[in-house]
Amino acid sequence: MKILQSVLDSVMKRNPNEPEFIQAVTEVLETIEPVAEKHPEWVEAGIFERIVEPERQIIFRVPWVDDAGKVQVNRGFRIQFNSAIGPYKGGIRLHPSVYSGILKFLGFEQIFKNALTGLPIGGGKGGSDFDPKGKSDAEVMRFCQSFMTELSKHIGADTDVPAGDIGTGAREIGYMYGQYKRLRNEFTGVLTGKGLDWGGSLARKEATGYGLLYFMDAYLKDKGMSFEGKTVVISGSGNVAIYATEKAQSFGAKVVALSDSNGYIYDPDGIDLAVVKEIKEVRRGRIKEYCDVKPNATYTEGCRGIWTIKCDVALPCATQNEIDEESAKILVANGVQAVGEGANMPSTIAAINTFLSNGILFGPAKAANAGGVATSALEMSQNSMRYSWTFEEVDAKLKDIMENIYKNACKAAADYGMDGNLVAGANIAGFEKVARAMYAQGIAY
Ligand code: NDP
Repeated sequence: MKILQSVLDSVMKRNPNEPEFIQAVTEVLETIEPVAEKHPEWVEAGIFERIVEPERQIIFRVPWVDDAGKVQVNRGFRIQFNSAIGPYKGGIRLHPSVYSGILKFLGFEQIFKNALTGLPIGGGKGGSDFDPKGKSDAEVMRFCQSFMTELSKHIGADTDVPAGDIGTGAREIGYMYGQYKRLRNEFTGVLTGKGLDWGGSLARKEATGYGLLYFMDAYLKDKGMSFEGKTVVISGSGNVAIYATEKAQSFGAKVVALSDSNGYIYDPDGIDLAVVKEIKEVRRGRIKEYCDVKPNATYTEGCRGIWTIKCDVALPCATQNEIDEESAKILVANGVQAVGEGANMPSTIAAINTFLSNGILFGPAKAANAGGVATSALEMSQNSMRYSWTFEEVDAKLKDIMENIYKNACKAAADYGMDGNLVAGANIAGFEKVARAMYAQGIAY
C-alpha cells in the first residue's frame, strides 16, 4: 500500500489493543488502494482517515440484580460508526468476549455491508460482555431492561436502529423493545427482529441464512454449477446456521455437519433439521444432544476440527476467525469448491488468501451475509408504512437484493482489474457509495 499505509499506521497506533478491528481495517484498506489512486479528491478530503474513526462510541455501566439478589455489573457499548447514507444500523452482541475492539470491527464492516444492500442504512454495532448462557429468563429480562435504560438515550427510529446478533434473539429483542416503549412512550421501529405480532417482518428470522444461500447460489450458477447434490459443512447452530441449512437442503444439497462453541456433529445421512431446531430453538440445548436422537451421527469435542470434514461447499456461520490458514489449507486439500461466509469475518486474512490463490469461489461476509440487515431495513420500511408484506414478498425482495449484491461486487472487481475477486469487489462497491455521500456532505457534518 502506498497512499493508504499512513491511514493504517494511525489506526494501529490509536487502537493498539484491538486486533480484530485492525484486521478488519487492514483487509478493507488493502483492497481499496486502487480507489484512492483513482479519486485524489477523496484522499484530499480525508475520506479514508475519517471512515476508519467511529463518529461516536458510547460505553456504559449495566447494573442488574441476579436471581440470588446479588448485584451484577456488565459493560454496555454502542458504536455509531457512520451515518453518511442513513441511520446507524447493526446488531447487539451479547457474549463474554465482547469489548470495543470486537464491536468496532463489526461496526466498521457493517458500513460497507449496509451500503451494498442498496438500502439507506448507516453502520453501527453494539453489545455487552453479558453472557446469556445459563441465565434464567428473569435474569436476561433484568439485564436487557437495564441495558436499554441507558441505550434508549442514544437510539431512535431515525437515528440508530439496533438488531440481534450472537446472543441476542427474539427473547432479548422483546425485553429491550418493551423497556424502550416504557421509557419513551413510543411505538416506533427502533429495533428490528421484533416479534410478528408487534412490528416484526416475516422472513427476518430466516433472512441471513437464506440470503447467504441466495448469494452463493447466484455465484455457483454464474460459474456453471449448483447446490444440487453438493456436500456442505456449516459451522454454528444458531440463527444463521439453522436457516442456511434449511435453504441449502431445499436447493438439493446435503448438509453433513453443524457445531456450537463446545464441539461439532457429523451426520453422514444429512442433518435432520427438525431435531436441531428442537434442541436449539425450543430447549436452548447443546448440539451434542443431536446424537442422542440420531445414532448414526458422531459428536467431536472442540469446534476447529469441523473443517477437516470433506465437503464441496463450506459455510462458516458461527463467529470471527474460525477458519485460520491451516483449516483453509485442509479444506482446499479436501477439494472444497466454494466458501461462503455467513458469520462476520470468520476467515483470517491468511485463510482468505489461501482460498483466493487456489481459485476457490469465495463469498466474503460483507456481501454474502448482508441478507439479515437488508431484511431489517425492509422491517423498518414496513414499520414506517404501518404495513406488513407477506413472507413471499419479503423473500422475493431478499433474493433480488442478494443477486444484485453479487452482480455489483463482480462489477466493481472487474472495473478495477480484479476480476473474480469478490473480497475486493464488495469492499470497493460498499466503500464508493459511502465515500460519495461523505464527500457530498462536507467535512463538519
Ligand atoms: P447465534 O447466537 O444465534 O448463534 C451463534 C452460533 O455460533 C452458536 O451455535 C454458537 O455456539 C456459535 N458460537 C458463538 N461463539 C462461538 C465461538 N467463540 N466459537 C465457536 N462457536 C461459537 O448467532 P447468529 O447465528 O445470529 O450469528 C452467527 C454469526 O453470524 C455471527 O458472526 C454474527 O455476527 C453473524 N451475523 C448474524 C446475523 C443475524 O441476522 N443474526 C446477520 C449477519 C451476520 P454456542 O451456542 O455454544 O455459543
